Amino acid sequence: MAHLLSKSTYIRGRQCQKSLYLNKKRPFLRDKISPEQLAKFKRGTDVGILAQSLFPGGVDCKPKSPAQYAAKIAETAAMMAKPEVHTIYEAVFQWEEVLIILDILARHNDGWHAYEVKSSLRISETYLQDAALQYYVLTGSGVKLHDFSIIHLDADYIFQENLELDKLFKTVSVLEEVRQHYDETGTNIRISKATLEAESSPKIPIGPWCHSPYPCDLIGHCWKHVPANSFLYMDTIAEEKRFEWYREGMLNIGELPDHFGEENSRIQAKAFQSGKICFDTQQIDPVQQLLKSRDGMESYVYVLSHSPAIPHFSGTRPFERLPLAISILSSGELTIHHHLATAESMRKFAIILAGLSRKGKIFTADGQTLKDLFHFASKYLNKSELEEVSLPEESIVGLQQLIDELKLFFPVSMKDISFNEMVRWLSGKNFKLKNEVFLVSDLIQAETEPLFADSLQRLRLFPEALKSAFDAIHSLISR
Ligand code: SF4
Repeated sequence: MAHLLSKSTYIRGRQCQKSLYLNKKRPFLRDKISPEQLAKFKRGTDVGILAQSLFPGGVDCKPKSPAQYAAKIAETAAMMAKPEVHTIYEAVFQWEEVLIILDILARHNDGWHAYEVKSSLRISETYLQDAALQYYVLTGSGVKLHDFSIIHLDADYIFQENLELDKLFKTVSVLEEVRQHYDETGTNIRISKATLEAESSPKIPIGPWCHSPYPCDLIGHCWKHVPANSFLYMDTIAEEKRFEWYREGMLNIGELPDHFGEENSRIQAKAFQSGKICFDTQQIDPVQQLLKSRDGMESYVYVLSHSPAIPHFSGTRPFERLPLAISILSSGELTIHHHLATAESMRKFAIILAGLSRKGKIFTADGQTLKDLFHFASKYLNKSELEEVSLPEESIVGLQQLIDELKLFFPVSMKDISFNEMVRWLSGKNFKLKNEVFLVSDLIQAETEPLFADSLQRLRLFPEALKSAFDAIHSLISR
């Protein structure tokens, strides 16, 4: 019999039963997947495959398409019956119309052990719910499980020359927790199945659950009635408070009580209502001083960085942020340095930044990120260079920091605003900058020289866009 629920739809239902229903019955209503989510899926797959090496020599039962589910359930059972098979990757089970694909099932001397791999540094409540569902289906299918563990990346692991899988991954038994969740899991499965068999979608209003634990992909549908300038998008007000007002029947800023929120919220509200950028005029002086210091010797620096889940660079931990490429506009000249993947290139990266700071101020997108990356790269300087190569705090001016200092707000939510949008709101120019997540993955994965060159070409626009954003703030506060 075909399954009704899977791991992902069960978790979707735990977040919101309406999401579960619409995903199944009206899938065309779903929003497009964001580049960040796509990158997350890819990362999860890569880490899952790597973790299989902890249990070498297993058989892979991964279904290539939904049409193979039934055959793979039978194949998993057949493999488990063979004494010589000690490990099964992507083992498939179905119980009470719930289908699961377990990352690793291993036979040890004391019996079967189940492992779920997560590309994460810690175990979240959602991971426990996911593990509890798998435990429910596995035991229901008759598997005598000796243990159930989550394998995740160890935040303390530091890569040194070779990847040591037993140190990179941390295996944590969650058997006690999943046993405790057993009855609750059965109840949740029954609730979700009833929702899927219902004639119409459950009446669930929008709420904090639309963003937690994951951004729901039905926001475009459910939030249609919310105007783009509603207070529901104002991130300067606590989410709980916004939904409290919403439940009281308010939707627009004009309906809010007098004197709501702090100063920041009132400036943001003004921006939302006027459709224009607003800021605190009291903050103009210090920002003007910073921008006045531009004397033609300044540099506009955009660093493309990434945080690989699996470290590959000596001295780094999982998800540590590393520079990937740097694009500089200085004295009218544009330069790009890439291939930042060796100790020597890190050393050069630190020297380049220090050199620019001696020349004049460095204007960048996020000053703190630039300082952190410099700090990381300076670990690769020679002893003799350590004293000479520095990046003084006052030499860096971050666009984000200026925006914060000015208490500047755009007429849209600041939460997910991209660099391209930020520049567009400030300068009115659309540089059509490629999304940074895609640019990073293009640079890392570009298999052909033209593709790589194209990605670098796109990076050239970033410092120019930065300059136009700083110019725009300058004219904004000089009026
Ligand atoms: S947008 Fe919110 S209310 Fe709508 S389905 Fe998603 S979580 Fe549920």
